Amino acid sequence: MTVTFEESQDVKNSNELHQIYRRSLQNMRAWMGDSPLRFDEKLGIIDAWQEELRIYYRENGHCYACGEQLDGCLCHEPLEGWVQ
Ligand SMILES: [Zn+2]
Repeated sequence: MTVTFEESQDVKNSNELHQIYRRSLQNMRAWMGDSPLRFDEKLGIIDAWQEELRIYYRENGHCYACGEQLDGCLCHEPLEGWVQ
């Protein structure tokens, strides 16, 4: 199980990032439903997935927690946030 994002040289805007996030979340949910892994194993994979998204957002100049550009982000810890 790997989370793959579309390879592109283009920097994504917040709308595109959100669409990528939604798609990735759907894939993750579908995979979780089918997976025979134990709960704690799934949690580890979810953590890794969140971290990958966080990095992906940062590379594209956005905060994963609030979805804003890093310039306009008001989060205390912009790169450590959690999408609810
Ligand atoms: Zn933020």
